[in-house]
Amino acid sequence: MKNYDVAVVGAGPVGSTFARIMAEKGFEVAILEKKKEIGVPLQCAGLVGKRIKEVNVLPNEFIINPVHGGFLHSPEDTVLSVSKGKPEAYVLDRVKYDQFLAHLAEDSGAEILLNHGVEKIDSVNGVINLKNKEKTKISAGVVVGADGHSSIVSSTFNPLAESFQAAQYLIDVGEKWFQTNFVHLYVDSRLSPGFLWVIPLSESTARVGLFADANYQQLTIILNELLNKRSELRGATILKKYYGVIPRHDPHKQLVKDRVILLGDAASQVKPTTGGGLIMGFTSAEIASRAVSKALEVDNVEILTDYNKQYQERFKKELKVQLMVHKIFKSLNDDNLEYMFQKLKQEGAEDIISHYGDIDTQSTLVKEMFKRGIIFSILPKMLSWRISSLWK
Ligand SMILES: Cc1cc2nc3c(=O)[nH]c(=O)nc-3n(C[C@H](O)[C@H](O)[C@H](O)COP(=O)(O)OP(=O)(O)OC[C@H]3O[C@@H](n4cnc5c(N)ncnc54)[C@H](O)[C@@H]3O)c2cc1C
Repeated sequence: MKNYDVAVVGAGPVGSTFARIMAEKGFEVAILEKKKEIGVPLQCAGLVGKRIKEVNVLPNEFIINPVHGGFLHSPEDTVLSVSKGKPEAYVLDRVKYDQFLAHLAEDSGAEILLNHGVEKIDSVNGVINLKNKEKTKISAGVVVGADGHSSIVSSTFNPLAESFQAAQYLIDVGEKWFQTNFVHLYVDSRLSPGFLWVIPLSESTARVGLFADANYQQLTIILNELLNKRSELRGATILKKYYGVIPRHDPHKQLVKDRVILLGDAASQVKPTTGGGLIMGFTSAEIASRAVSKALEVDNVEILTDYNKQYQERFKKELKVQLMVHKIFKSLNDDNLEYMFQKLKQEGAEDIISHYGDIDTQSTLVKEMFKRGIIFSILPKMLSWRISSLWK
């Protein structure tokens, strides 16, 4: 049985990034990937905050468009326009970017084993059973579950993860319509806390999608409704259809057990408000690499719990605010949402959102709205109290 220092289950963006960091540190790393081709099918809107450049390598060739801001649409189409007037986020070619991150890991010395689905993990001994005909086993000092939303690794010591369903079309509207550096987001109480998005790739093509606690049939109906309702999207050619799953962030998830840690979607490291997971996953990969290196160097897997402590220190406060925002949105009906948008517009909140809003960190904006009393005018009393309790 071949033994590695680290075995990473899953060659998604987070697993490949972690593998690359560990290989650069000189450890012997294997990546076990069940698919025969990395990155396909696309299961992402590809919108990621500009901070990605601080937490991972991102050559410009994988950026389709820089994004300066967005138009937020209420159920009756009251529109809040927010922008910082400079790139705040990027739209990525996710398929090529995933493949690039895997090549980087390989160039740094990690061994990528495609068609190597993992069936079972022994967390105490670090033994991994593969799904192939020969029923091969390998072992590792540390096993990293970066195997996505339905993680086999996580399921060995966590209950089944809850998740949202997502659907997305690649559309072509046939004429130059889109402003490529602005995205559109649409709220709808049938989807809350999920929402719909239109993310232009060019002046005539866009990714149009949504996520919600609903089945694919319901999502498809609501997505088609948007295409029929909006004059600019009506009659668009649907070039491709994609479906995917977004894990529901679970603050109680166990991330470390014996020789095993979880990372990325497998660890439910996604923003509760948007379901975006790339920046949290990359940041967590860096945090985890410190604990895993130390544990391997001194041959003591108890040190792996440092990963959980440092991860909590980094994200706990922000996630608490986002989980509260998520809960509040879930409780609002279309009338409440409409009222909220109209009030925000009246109170000049577009400037505040433009100034304090951030695709990855919402606590700064929520705190500012709370300080200015805006929260109290847009939400029923009970809900504003709940928010204010976060800062007491
Ligand atoms: C429709 C949609 C839109 C999204 N939009 C955005 C967005 O705009 N911005 C953003 O930041 N995030 C977005 N996300 C979330 C983002 O795609 C994920 O957070 C990200 O892919 C997580 O990366 P990962 O490496 O943890 O997992 P994954 O990308 O899921 O990779 C897991 C890998 O593990 C492999 N694997 C699974 N099981 C096994 C097994 N048993 N053995 C071996 N290999 C296995 C899989 O084949 C896969 O390659 C979106 C998600 C969806 C579904």
